[in-house]
Formats: sequence, structure tokens, C-alpha cells
Amino acid sequence: MTHHRPHPDTLGVHAGREDFAALGVHAPPLDLSTTYPVTDLDEGTASFDALVGGAARAANPIYARLHNPTVARFEQALAQLEGSRDAVAFASGMAAMSACLLAARQRGGHVLAVRPLYGTSDHLLASGLLGIGTRWVRPEEVGSAIDGDTAMVIIETPANSTLDLIDIAAVVRAAGTVPVLVDSTFATPVLQQPVALGATLVLHSATKFLGGHGDVIAGVVACDTEWAAALRQVRAATGGLLHPLGAYLLHRGLPTLSLRVHKAQANAQVVAERLAAHPAVARVCYPGLGTVANAHLAGSQMRGPGSLLAFELHGGHAAAAAVMAAVRLATPAVSLGSVDTLIQHPAGLTHRVVDAQTQARCGITAGLLRLSVGIEDVEDIWADLLQALDAAREAKAA
Ligand SMILES: *Cc1c(COP(=O)(O)O)cnc(C)c1O
Repeated sequence: MTHHRPHPDTLGVHAGREDFAALGVHAPPLDLSTTYPVTDLDEGTASFDALVGGAARAANPIYARLHNPTVARFEQALAQLEGSRDAVAFASGMAAMSACLLAARQRGGHVLAVRPLYGTSDHLLASGLLGIGTRWVRPEEVGSAIDGDTAMVIIETPANSTLDLIDIAAVVRAAGTVPVLVDSTFATPVLQQPVALGATLVLHSATKFLGGHGDVIAGVVACDTEWAAALRQVRAATGGLLHPLGAYLLHRGLPTLSLRVHKAQANAQVVAERLAAHPAVARVCYPGLGTVANAHLAGSQMRGPGSLLAFELHGGHAAAAAVMAAVRLATPAVSLGSVDTLIQHPAGLTHRVVDAQTQARCGITAGLLRLSVGIEDVEDIWADLLQALDAAREAKAA
């Protein structure tokens, strides 16, 4: 029999559900146990040793900080979507990033990181809080900046909030044997699979598209078996666990991930084009308009430009605040990748923890709004934005 590799959309529906027929179920079991009976002590001790050492599973889960079957199911499904050997889930995207940095400390004293990054990632790296240093580089400087003490290279593409793209394969080539971590939150495995481009670690704030419904905070790292063991060791020791109910909801969302991503992306292209033609708007950053760094990668490295965009208003901070106050259908809130349209002000909210100079260098200005286009009907999304832009203009005139 030849092996037929299913289409990613099919994987999204079926991954992590392979044993359902044998179990006699149609929905995944949700295991909320915190501890598990140990009736065979020798087996229990062997399981404990294996799990503390980073094993993906053992004969007995022992304790939920070491292993949870519902979380493991989501991890296996996500690994299939990313095309990685394994994946490790965490309590949040930042818990996932922290675990990667703690695991990287065993390999060297600093990481190389490319700005812009998600505001709190920038803050965590810049603060040195976890005892690992950060050297900020441009993508083309990675090769020359690496030395014997470089533990990891960290990039985010598309970047938050400017939507700039970075050539993942080029960074991987420049990094040589140093592992490259890609924060792929904005792309999802539907649009981009960094492992196939040579990335060692693919990080998601699963809070965003993977969850997709605004009701789970979670993070996940897709990686090889060796890194997964290192991350599980950190997770078992530091406790940044994903709750099984969160894992259940994330797994429940995977079958519709591709539908959600594609519908939102189609909407975003229309909204971006209309915003670019609106007199109140100074510029629109969207890979689908060719207005971001390396926009050409949206059609090669990515299977489309995604559904995040940023736009700058001529009226600066006051106009941005007025638009946020005037939207009725869109939710004026941080976060992204939800089924509903979300709009937020990076300088005032998500990127406040980034110093002003870096904000300016990264194009995060007072009049910049970031829009996460949802899956509503596009005409309703546009009608809402249009009335909010008009309201902002009236506020300015008054
Ligand atoms: C939200 C976000 C994070 C942080 O994830 P949390 O789940 O909020 O901890 C990291 N990277 C990117 C790109 C994000 O959008």
C-alpha cells in the first residue's frame, strides 16, 4: 500500500483523533486528574524518572505537572500540522517563550533577536530577567553576529505590529548550527510551516488563531524530539502548564483553523485595499498590499498574507483613540486571531513595555492601529470601520 499523506485541511480535522474508533468515542476524552494511582511502585518510579527527564509519555502519568493525556493529544495534533516531530504546550505564549529561553541557557550566554517582536517578548528579552543576554540584530547581521556563546536566534514573522516579513530560510542558513526560533503566531501552520524551512523551534501564542474564540490563554512550541524533552524538563520543573480544559478547547478549534484563517485573510485583503484608499488613512501595513518589508514572501514562504494589518491615521493619537471609541461591531481590545474583528493601539497597549526609541524605529507611531480582521461578513466589517473613521474625523473637526 502506498502511503497517502493527507492534505493539511484533513489533518486539521483528524490529527490527534486517530484512536477514537479503538476507544469507541467521537470526541476526545477530557482528563482533569491531578494525580494518578500508582499500584505498581516499580513502574511508578520508572515513569516518574522518565517524565522528569522530559519523556513525552510513560506507563503511568504520575502527576499532572509531568503529563496529561488531553494536553498530549493537542500537542500531537499541533505537531502534525507543523510537520514537526513533537510539540510542547504551555500556560501561555510567554510561558512557552520563557521555557525556550531557560532551555537555551544550557547552550550559551546570549540569544540573537530581531526586532520588531511582540511587546512582551521584547520586554522579556531586553530585561535579562531569565539570566540570558540578548543582542539585537537585523536579519542580515545574524551570520556575522554569531559566536561560540550564541544559544539561539529569535525571529518573529509576520512581525507584531508592523507585519514585516523575514526570510526564515535565509536566517536558518546564516545561523548554521545555532537553533532558530520562529514566533509564527500571526501565520498559523495553515499559512507557514517554519520547520520545513529549517527552523528548530516554532512558537505560537495559541491564545490567538489556534484557540480562535477568545477563551483560552495558551502557548505551544513545535520542535524535534530532543528540544521537546528539554522543554518538558523545564515545564515539569517550573510548572508553566496548559490546563487540560484549555488543551481540549484548542484541539476542538483545530478542525476549523484553516476555514477561519482563509476567510479572515480574504476579508483582510478587501479591508486593507479600502483603508489604503481612505482619506483619513496615511498608510496601511499589509503583506497583501506589498507595503511591508519582504512582502514578496507572502506568496512563497507563506501561503497568503494573513489577516492582521496595521494602519496609520493622519490624525495621530487623538484620531486613533476616537476610532477605538467609535467601533461598534469590532471589539476595541488587544489580542488577535479571534473569530471577531479586534482593533487595538500598539503604542498605548501591547507595545507599551517597549521603550519609545525602539517603538519609533519599529514604526509603532501614535496614530497606528492594529486590526485583526475576523470572519464576519466583510461588508459589515467595512461599514463599521467606515463609520468609526467618520466619527474620528468629526471629533477632530469639533
Ligand atoms: C500574544 C503573543 C505572544 C504572547 O502570548 P500570550 O499567550 O499572550 O502569552 C507572543 N507572540 C506573539 C506574536 C503574540 O501575538
